[in-house]
Formats: sequence, structure tokens, C-alpha cells
Amino acid sequence: MWSATLLTLFPEMFPGPLGLSLAGDGLARGAWALEARNIREHGLGRHRAVDDTPAGGGPGMVMRADVLAAAIDSAAPPGDTRPRLLMSPRGAPLTQARVRSLVAGEGVVILCGRFEGVDERIIEARALEEISIGDYVLSGGEIAALALIDACVRLLPGIMGAAASGVEESFETGLLEYPHYTRPREFEGRAIPEILLSGDHAKIAKWRRDEALRLTRERRPELLKRD
Ligand code: SAH
Repeated sequence: MWSATLLTLFPEMFPGPLGLSLAGDGLARGAWALEARNIREHGLGRHRAVDDTPAGGGPGMVMRADVLAAAIDSAAPPGDTRPRLLMSPRGAPLTQARVRSLVAGEGVVILCGRFEGVDERIIEARALEEISIGDYVLSGGEIAALALIDACVRLLPGIMGAAASGVEESFETGLLEYPHYTRPREFEGRAIPEILLSGDHAKIAKWRRDEALRLTRERRPELLKRD
């Protein structure tokens, strides 16, 4: 079963929104699994310290490599083949292609940073793959991890109702998705494009393809240049 293990200082943030809707139903049914572990269980001393001041000075605190190593080793012992991810604004931007490849595996082990981030040495010592969810800074990796897991879980077999949706969506085709419409036929003086009501499926398919191309060219031209 596809399973996500989170290492976090705030395990109560999970499953959070992933406990609702289709992902939540799947979780309750045992279609996927989630385990959130508290890094503080591996903290040092009476105060279970997990962080310390940055070498070289400067503001904030840094999560200790020894504490994180203990947390990772207990959550993902040798033999656990799941990729180990570190949510990080410095990481490779998350793409639908990477989501697809994660879904094809056994699951993920995700380290959620806090404060200024983690001691650099843990990244190499435990072969962590740094992944970013965008060029902005969150206060912690938890919300980034929720976004990544959500993107994965909705692609697992038996999670999404209509098996077809997910195939033609934004990014799956390399294009942004075409516009959708539903009833009423007229809304505040705006009509549904006539062609969508024509019943001519070939024309509708062509219109959608053209719209997807137009939107991609207007908003994200760099997607068209990718291989
Ligand atoms: N000082 C760091 C930011 C730390 S933010 C820097 O300037 O790069 C604290 C934690 O939030 C990070 O360790 C990471 O786990 C998470 N985080 C913040 N922004 C993120 C993003 N865009 N994508 C993924 N994780 C992020």
C-alpha cells in the first residue's frame, strides 16, 4: 500500500485536509496510509532540543543533523526503499511528472523543516531529495508536504471517482487545461460558447485543444518550449 511517513515538529497538522473528501475516504478505507512522527521524540536533554544556533552566527535556529538522523533512521530503517524527501525552497520545483513517478513507487518519507531549515550535512548523510512547491517561503515544510501528498494521492487507483479525469488536465498533456462551463446556459448575460452545445464532438475536441493551446501560449509560453 502506498504510504507517506512525515517527520515533523507538528504531527497534529496531519492528516489535516487529507482526512477529508476523496483523499480522506481513501485513507479511512485503507487505500493509502499516512503516519506523522514527532521529531521531538528524538530531541536531546530535558527539553528535547531539536535545534541550535547557526554556526557562523546570524538569526534563527537550525535543526540538528544528529536529531534528524535518529528520527529518519527510526521512521525509515535500511530496507525501506521509499524516496526520502526534504521540503525546501531550494529544492527542485515539484512537477506533475515527479508526482507521477512518486505515485508509481511505494510511497514517500518526508522531512518537514522549520526555523531556518536543517543542518546541511543531513541532506547528504541520508540522501535527501530536496523538493520545492514554489518560489516563496513558507514557515515550515508541513503545508508543502500536504500539497505534495495531495497531488500524489488523487492519482492512486480507486481514489478519484471518474477514472478519466486526471488524464486531460493541466500539465498532464503538457498544456494548461481548456475552460469549463456548466448550467445555467446564461449567467449574468454571459453565454456558454455555442460550440459546446452543438453536440458535434469532433468540433468540441478541436475547440478544447485550441483553447488549451491559446491559454498556454498566453500564460505559460515556457511550457510549450519544454521537451
Ligand atoms: N531559511 C530558509 C527558509 C526556511 S523556511 C531559506 O531561506 O531558504 C522553513 C522550512 O519551511 C524549510 O526548511 C522547508 O522545510 C519549508 N519550506 C519553506 N518554503 C518552502 C517551499 N517553497 N517549498 C517547500 N518547503 C518549503
